[in-house]
Amino acid sequence: MTETVTIIGAGLAGSEAAWQLANRGIAVELWEMKPTQKTPAHHSNDFAELVCSNSLRSDQLENAVGLLKEELRRLDSLILRCADAHRVAAGGALAVDREGFSRAVTQAIRTHPNITVHEGEVTEIPSTGQVIIASGPLTSDALAKAIATRFAETGYLHFYDAAAPLVTFESVDMEQAFFASRYDKGTPDYINCPLTEEEYQEFWKELCSAEEAPVHGFEDKKVFEGCMPVEVLARRGEQTLCYGPLKPRGLRDPKTGREPFAVVQLRRDNAEGSLYNLVGFQTHLKFPEQKRVFSLIPALRNAEFVRYGVMHRNTYLNSPKLLNRYYQVKGEERLTFAGQITGVEGYVESTASGYLAAVELARRMQGKEPLNFPPETALGALALYISNESVSDFQPMNVNFGIIPPLGYRVKGKRNKNAVLSQRALDCLETLPV
Ligand SMILES: Cc1cc2nc3c(=O)[nH]c(=O)nc-3n(C[C@H](O)[C@H](O)[C@H](O)COP(=O)(O)OP(=O)(O)OC[C@H]3O[C@@H](n4cnc5c(N)ncnc54)[C@H](O)[C@@H]3O)c2cc1C
Repeated sequence: MTETVTIIGAGLAGSEAAWQLANRGIAVELWEMKPTQKTPAHHSNDFAELVCSNSLRSDQLENAVGLLKEELRRLDSLILRCADAHRVAAGGALAVDREGFSRAVTQAIRTHPNITVHEGEVTEIPSTGQVIIASGPLTSDALAKAIATRFAETGYLHFYDAAAPLVTFESVDMEQAFFASRYDKGTPDYINCPLTEEEYQEFWKELCSAEEAPVHGFEDKKVFEGCMPVEVLARRGEQTLCYGPLKPRGLRDPKTGREPFAVVQLRRDNAEGSLYNLVGFQTHLKFPEQKRVFSLIPALRNAEFVRYGVMHRNTYLNSPKLLNRYYQVKGEERLTFAGQITGVEGYVESTASGYLAAVELARRMQGKEPLNFPPETALGALALYISNESVSDFQPMNVNFGIIPPLGYRVKGKRNKNAVLSQRALDCLETLPV
């Protein structure tokens, strides 16, 4: 019997890692602090909880996150399998029924014969054995402190992250809204809430001056560009939102036959279609202020908010200094990190790091050569970006084609070029003895 692996955190990365190790015959001791203790963004008792959006983003191969998902699918990822099984309509994106999705992941983990689940917070880094720390961007304070102390030399960083509110479908005034997908691509899955120029101006003014909730415990006021609160974006200029989350391009209001001045989009959040989230409306306004300001959107005048937006710390390591391409601590390879804490950004990226970390750890434990996922694959490129020592100002990163080596020949048109890059990645994957 081979050694066991202790995994801390049953989020996206931890669940994927546990599943991959267990499927390779390795016994896993999985520690999760829910339901006894929850981070400010986690609400459900299930594993692999989606803390904000229910979208795993684009499912098209011309998009890097679409490629990453396809690689994971072909490699039998648990997270992708459950996401595909609980998909809800969302145009060209893979969005899921968040409860059904997390329930399916939890069921698969809890019933796996090689996985033992322990409930409780881990407050120290285990001093012996193989360990994967996948405790996420909201790692509990005690463990975060232990990690910060242990890796004080290489640096332990953080920024802010924010979540968008949810409303009930029945409370949306469909007289003032219409179903459509941008440029009529795919099925008309989004609810579009149009605003006239006057309505927009009133909304924008109130949003800019609305009261924010106090955010405690953060000396450094960094805001992460990828998940910026809508009120922060609004303050950048009167028109900024019209080029961002309120962009009307490609959305024709059937009542007027024209593009409105601005549009707020709502995306379906569960399979029944009873809940919708406000796309791009991550926020940390005070809850009564969210209700007051977002109700200025005509279709949301009487909206029922079942969850308000929140803002949180997001913790990550200075990985280029600390980790190798297998997400293992250089010089102490029994310790592996996985998920957002490594500086990969996003649900799919966190899953991908959990997958790669587990597969390479399993190979090491079983005396096999590493797979060394090639840089042409999205999985490999992400791991190489995280562990690239020449990066000086390390920032969390979504997967993108910029971190994948170029083709070396010209292909006309960005979409065509991306499609060729994706095909090259999938061909590369075929050659790996996974
Ligand atoms: C507020 C917020 C909103 C976000 N929104 C999005 C989004 O819309 N789209 C997107 O793609 N990405 C989003 N992200 C980024 C990121 O993709 C998610 O945080 C993702 O869940 C990270 O996966 P993970 O597995 O690393 O961590 P998590 O999924 O957070 O899993 C970590 C698990 O570890 C547990 N845990 C923590 N500390 C301990 C401990 N000491 N002992 C035991 N268990 C512990 C937690 O309870 C949790 O279950 C968001 C992040 C935050 C913080």
